[in-house]
Amino acid sequence: MSSEQASTRSDWSDVKRVLVIVAHPDDADFICGGTCIQMAEQGIAVTYMVLTNGDKGNHNPEVTRNQLIAMRKIEQRAAATLCGIQEVLFMGEEDGFLRPKRAIRKRVTREIRRIRPELIICTNPDRYFVGDGYINHPDHRNAGLIAIEAIFPAADNPMFYPDLADEGYHPHKIKYLYVHGHDQADVKIDITTLIDQKIAAILCHDSQFVDPVAAEKRWREMWGEKSEDGTVRYYESFKLMKFG
Ligand SMILES: [Zn+2]
Repeated sequence: MSSEQASTRSDWSDVKRVLVIVAHPDDADFICGGTCIQMAEQGIAVTYMVLTNGDKGNHNPEVTRNQLIAMRKIEQRAAATLCGIQEVLFMGEEDGFLRPKRAIRKRVTREIRRIRPELIICTNPDRYFVGDGYINHPDHRNAGLIAIEAIFPAADNPMFYPDLADEGYHPHKIKYLYVHGHDQADVKIDITTLIDQKIAAILCHDSQFVDPVAAEKRWREMWGEKSEDGTVRYYESFKLMKFG
């Protein structure tokens, strides 16, 4: 899969398993929902790993923290099912305080070694600002950092975590990394035919939207790109890293 090929078509012929590592319930649906639907349709096993429990994402004072955590799991599972994603891992870190500490790096490394994905999707650890009106959530940056620090140098190095090998989780090297939110994105996946399905998955996260109708309208305006023939097309973009 060269970046040139990937930019024009979704060639994942040497990809059987994909792991998506994100901070919050709903992040995967926003950043790569359409891409993951396409992958699942091609028979690729996609796993979502949600690092935090999402316990700060609430505007309703009547919902307790534990209720919210439970709701968000249900919502994320429903969204994943809609996209053909079979496995969702909830790592349970506290929302809003995600940090690249040793314990979480080891837990993520264990899952990489267990799942053995050829491709991982993560967020850009360097992205502090989005446009001119949004400070990127620190959990999004730290989720990216946790992901890349688990991929390298931990996941494929037998000197890291020999006890994991004793448990049967042997070193594993991924082939590709898609980084979301990168200025030098070189993979652009056309998800136009899947935009309705992507939005339906996002809207499974009921707890997150006070006015889902207005939100959907805004997303369609924000994400749509006018093509030369005048039609509106939708894309998901990533920076591709390849590891030989
Ligand atoms: Zn988020």
